[in-house]
Amino acid sequence: MNRGKQLFFVFVVAAALPASARAQTGIQYDKIEIKTDKVAPNLYMLSGSEGVDPGHPDGAGGRIGVLAGPDGIFMVDSQYLQIGDKVLAAIRRIDPGPIRFLVNTHIHGDHTAGNATFAKLGAVLLAREELREGMMRQPATTTTPAPARDPARLPVVTYGMGDPVRFRMNGETVELIPVRAAHTGGDTMVRFVNADVIMIGDFYRNFGYPFIDTSNGGSLKGALEGLELTMKMAGPATRLIPGHGTYINRTDIIPYRDMILGVQAKVQQLIAQGKTLQDVLAAKVTSPYDAKVPGGLLPAGAAGTSADRFVSMVYSQLKGSQ
Ligand SMILES: [Zn+2]
Repeated sequence: MNRGKQLFFVFVVAAALPASARAQTGIQYDKIEIKTDKVAPNLYMLSGSEGVDPGHPDGAGGRIGVLAGPDGIFMVDSQYLQIGDKVLAAIRRIDPGPIRFLVNTHIHGDHTAGNATFAKLGAVLLAREELREGMMRQPATTTTPAPARDPARLPVVTYGMGDPVRFRMNGETVELIPVRAAHTGGDTMVRFVNADVIMIGDFYRNFGYPFIDTSNGGSLKGALEGLELTMKMAGPATRLIPGHGTYINRTDIIPYRDMILGVQAKVQQLIAQGKTLQDVLAAKVTSPYDAKVPGGLLPAGAAGTSADRFVSMVYSQLKGSQ
């Protein structure tokens, strides 16, 4: 590709990306280090370092799960393409065995852009049918143009709503639990039954306000249902591990859900008074919660702050359902 064509391609890809993905430019990939946290005898969480990813200042990219043992490695999510060698090195420090399966919790590039790297090492990629369709539709889901089109990144095995897909390996039962239209249209929670751990993806977050990606099929109603489902599935000791931020348990979801319901009620009230989106944003309806939401008032792409993005989403979802 000549330079002119290349620039045009980059422009077209950038224009097709949601604002959230454009905000990911400026990621200092060379500065990302992978931290490994052992959460059970054979289950590990990998996450990127702080302060080098403007979209995720608390930790670069999305969290990766690694179940290791004699039956081979089962991975959850694949992080950014650009740091594949670092992720692989971190996995190799845990276990030298074959990487057999990789499931994606949702379509966003901070969770899927590295897929091809692991597929080429032999991993079978799994995800919701909606996630694969979304990847086929979009020119790219990451900030990187050409390599993001690699067909090897696409899930090979797909599933819909319904009973969980179960894996039995390394003495663990892993369940892929589909969640209807929450953070995106193709969300999956991954439960490690014996370890009593559930990786819940991004429909819950404890850095910034909730991000529901309606352009990728997410919905406010689905996110609330996903939270209810999580609380019902989790026991008192179950560790819930979001795609970003700190680990939680089921009681932590209550104030989060109540915050969403509180903002939703307030926005609904303003809509009933005939207020425009601009009026609603100016009313600062998240102010009762701002002190308790770290990163809530930080910029989150073209939509303004994370609070503005959240309120705009709530407004459009409520307007749309009228
Ligand atoms: Zn994410």
